[in-house]
Amino acid sequence: MLDLVLRNARIAGRGDAILDIGIAGEKIVEIAQAISSDAPLEDAGGRLVMPGFVETHIHLDKSCILDRCESRDGTLQEAIAQVAAAKRGFTEDDVYARGRRTLEKAIVQGTTRMRTHVEVDPRIGLRSFGAIKRLKRDYAWAIDLEVCVFPQEGLLNDPGTEELLVAACEAGADLIGGCPYTDSDPHGQIARIFAIARRFDLDIDFHLDFDLDASRMDLEEVCRQTLAFRYGGRVAVGHVTKLAVTVLPATDLFLMGRAHDHNVPRGVTPAHRLAEHGVTCSLATNNVLNPFTPFGDCSLGRIANLYANIAQAGTPRELAACFDLVTAQPARLMNLPDYGIAVGNPADLVVLDSNDPAMAIAEVAQPLIGFKRGRRSFSRAAPLLFPPTTGP
Ligand SMILES: [Zn+2]
Repeated sequence: MLDLVLRNARIAGRGDAILDIGIAGEKIVEIAQAISSDAPLEDAGGRLVMPGFVETHIHLDKSCILDRCESRDGTLQEAIAQVAAAKRGFTEDDVYARGRRTLEKAIVQGTTRMRTHVEVDPRIGLRSFGAIKRLKRDYAWAIDLEVCVFPQEGLLNDPGTEELLVAACEAGADLIGGCPYTDSDPHGQIARIFAIARRFDLDIDFHLDFDLDASRMDLEEVCRQTLAFRYGGRVAVGHVTKLAVTVLPATDLFLMGRAHDHNVPRGVTPAHRLAEHGVTCSLATNNVLNPFTPFGDCSLGRIANLYANIAQAGTPRELAACFDLVTAQPARLMNLPDYGIAVGNPADLVVLDSNDPAMAIAEVAQPLIGFKRGRRSFSRAAPLLFPPTTGP
């Protein structure tokens, strides 16, 4: 017995076939041509159906604070200082309200899975963490939210931070992150983060190597410790503007190369080429309406289009690779084995106003309908034109 049939779907990765998707409860139970059923129908009209965008790197806790900050230089150092000052005024309800605004935008842009980084230190304590945990629970009907706690302002230089990170891990953080470039002892921080991760058996997601000077990198140390502790497949690194694995085009473009007054380097690494060599890569939003990135509609389709433009990726093959960088690749980075349109997987389905992954990136195709675990989670009306009527 089916509860819903999504008819006439062009499924990403299955070529031009027009298929029906049968849903029972929360799961996909059938994918076939012309499924016969009395269940309620939704017609995709031959459009592209995908399992939702996967956001691997966003900061819900510090989104939407432009009105509290004053950015002059537009540098990373200024952004960290501005947010550090604003953070002192954060309450749990304030973080919840801003995070909610950003999360709801991401949902209607077709994102069904997300990893958010949350700052923990003695100034903010666990207030942001508490708010984001509430958001995770309250929006579970539309999005799976992973909470990664991390010390944005350093760890070994900031007494009291490690105890708070441990408290957050005890209180249910999904994974732990680090930010060695703000620490007085970057390698020492990497070692402490690995120690906490192993104690709680958590995956790790570092903010790493976020500048344009390739003469000094922490990546080798992360790789060394990953191998030493047999943590292969469980460690992700973001920014890495020196190299880039999780690429954050909006922030990297905005903050990098501020010392240049012409020929400004872009600081966005061509992730699709790394992916060609087997590296698991993703494109992500990072920040929304704050001094790190004073932009943002939470659309991963738009971020992929921005990236394709910067990376000069314009062939159908390259554009399809960009689609993968906001769908299948980040799902692999986040170790999500049940992601994808397949029998037995959760019925996470988003209809894009397009018929092809490459064109969806080229045209920034709008998501029209979304389902999370078989239940409709959002819809957006397709635009309509009203030409003047002619004749009598
Ligand atoms: Zn970040």
